[in-house]
Order: sequence, then C-alpha cells, then structure tokens
Amino acid sequence: MKLPHVDYAAPKTVSEAVGLLAEHQDEASVLAGGQSLIPLLALRLARPAVLIDVNGIDELSGVSAADGWVAVGAMTRDYVAEESETVADAVPLLAAALPLIGHEAIRSRGTVGGSLAHADPAAELPAVARALDAEFVVCGLSGERVVPAADWFEGYLTTSRRLDELLVEVRFPAAGRGTGISFREVGRRHGDFAIVGLATSLTLSGGAIGDARLAFAGISDVPVRATGAEDLLVGEEPSAELFDEAARRATDDIDPPADLHGSSEYRRKVAAALVRRGLRAAAGNADERQ
Ligand SMILES: Cc1cc2nc3c(=O)[nH]c(=O)nc-3n(C[C@H](O)[C@H](O)[C@H](O)COP(=O)(O)OP(=O)(O)OC[C@H]3O[C@@H](n4cnc5c(N)ncnc54)[C@H](O)[C@@H]3O)c2cc1C
Repeated sequence: MKLPHVDYAAPKTVSEAVGLLAEHQDEASVLAGGQSLIPLLALRLARPAVLIDVNGIDELSGVSAADGWVAVGAMTRDYVAEESETVADAVPLLAAALPLIGHEAIRSRGTVGGSLAHADPAAELPAVARALDAEFVVCGLSGERVVPAADWFEGYLTTSRRLDELLVEVRFPAAGRGTGISFREVGRRHGDFAIVGLATSLTLSGGAIGDARLAFAGISDVPVRATGAEDLLVGEEPSAELFDEAARRATDDIDPPADLHGSSEYRRKVAAALVRRGLRAAAGNADERQ
C-alpha cells in the first residue's frame, strides 16, 4: 500500500528537531526506524501532516556506561544494542530481550527509543524498562527532563512524552553482583509479538533473595509489575514452592485481554507458567554472576 502524502523534515540536531515538534505539535510524527510508524501510515492508522526524520541526528545513537548506569541513545538500532558488550555485561536483562524482537531485518532498522516511545504493551523493551526502573530522558523547548519508567507508560501506545518533546536517551541501571535474569515469552511463531512475556531479575545475597523484579508484557495496555509476588520473594531462599506461590500471587488479580490468539484465562495460565520458569532461570544464572 502506498503512503499518504506527508511533508518531510530531516533535522540534524536535537534542538532543530525539538523546534519542529514545537511548531507542528500533534500534526507531527517522529520517524525513527519506521518499523511501526511506516506500516501505521500505510494502513492510514496514523495521519501526521509532517514526518520529522531523526535518523540523521548522530548525537542520538550510542551506548555508554557511567556511575552504575548504562545510557542507550534513542536512535541506537536494536542490533547495535544487541551486539554491545556494555549491554551484555551490565544490563543482561536488556541483552536477553533484544534478540526476541521480530526478526533480524526488523532489528537492523528498529531502534531502542522507537520501541519505548511506541509503547506497545506486548513488546519486550517496555517490560524490561519497567522491570529495571529505567529512566527516560526527553528534550523539549524548555530543556531536558527525566521520566521514571513507572510514569512513562500511560496507556495503549501512549506515553507521558509531551508533544514538543523528543525521547533522546534511556538509562538502565547496571546489574549488581548476584543478579540473575530471564526474559521468557510465548508467541505463535518465532519473531511474533509475545502473547505473554515476562522480564525477571533476581538478586541473591548470602543465599537469600535481596531484590526481585517481575514485569509482564501482553497482559494489559501497559507493561505490568507483579509487586505482590516481588514482595513475597524478597528475604526468602529460592525454592520450587516459593516460585509456585509467587506465580499464584503474580496472576491472582490480573485480567488479561482476550483476542484471536488466546482467551484471558489462557493468558493467565501462560503468565503463571512464565513466572515459575522465569524465576527458576534467573535463580539459576544468578550464581554465575556472584
Ligand atoms: C514484522 C514486524 C515484527 C515485529 N515484531 C516485534 C516484536 O516481536 N517485538 C517488538 O517489540 N517489536 C516488534 N516490531 C516493532 C519494532 O520493534 C519497531 O522497531 C518498534 O516498535 C519501533 O521502533 P522504530 O525505531 O522502528 O520506531 P518508528 O516506527 O519509527 O516509531 C514508532 C513510534 O515511536 C515514535 N518515536 C520513535 N522514536 C522517537 C523518539 N526518539 N522520540 C519520540 N517519539 C519517537 C514515532 O513517532 C512513532 O509514533 C515488529 C515490527 C515488524 C514490522
């Protein structure tokens, strides 16, 4: 299908892009990797008057580590983050999730910032960001502000980014010693969006769980933290019985959507199985990082 007519601007700096966003407000869409936006345009599900293509803004790409955080520029391609040793060493949960995004062709164009700005609740990176309490750096006419992941995802494909703001960077906390991780998902075929996905991070200290993080994809219109299960896990020693109880707590009060791919009850059962498996896997590889 051909794209509808749309004006096009290709700024070379963040301040130029922000100026264009402020000028065009809700008439503008930022074009990053285009892997979600271009299909939406082709299907006439998005009708911006102007595309602001940020692919030429070099300062938006790259991975760097400082002060216990890893900063990923919004335009960093998924495959670059996937191949980054810094990400693999310091943010293993992000490294585990990236290869599950679509296929290589998608990841060669798609960007970390694009996925997080698009905020598809079934996508992998929003669940990772929510699990790790990532920080979103946005830049608008009045300067930069930092939005915690808990405040970023507001609803289906909706974030707290203001119309004049560009997402410039996402910061992930580096994993501490004794941290084990897992990203598990169930989808219809390899490369499909998850029917349900789960990001898990466990930090063990002296044999007990010191920190537990569980964030689901695909069970609501935003990524969802399983805080009841996290509270149950902290202070306990890993065991099959504990993980069974955590799976119950994590899924007792969820009400996942039903669609062609599965009923709400099916999603709830998948979610419980992912909690058990995710916790087992994370506890298993936590020891390796002691
Ligand atoms: C066949 C196929 C399979 C896929 N499978 C998966 C999958 O399994 N898991 C998954 O997570 N994704 C999947 N995707 C989507 C893919 O990950 C996209 O790359 C991603 O959702 C959007 O990233 P992008 O860089 O392409 O952004 P774009 O498509 O360019 O933009 C997406 C949205 O974010 C906004 N935006 C982008 N960057 C910024 C910014 N810096 N500041 C403000 N707003 C911004 C755009 O305006 C637009 O609204 C799939 C896509 C395809 C085509």
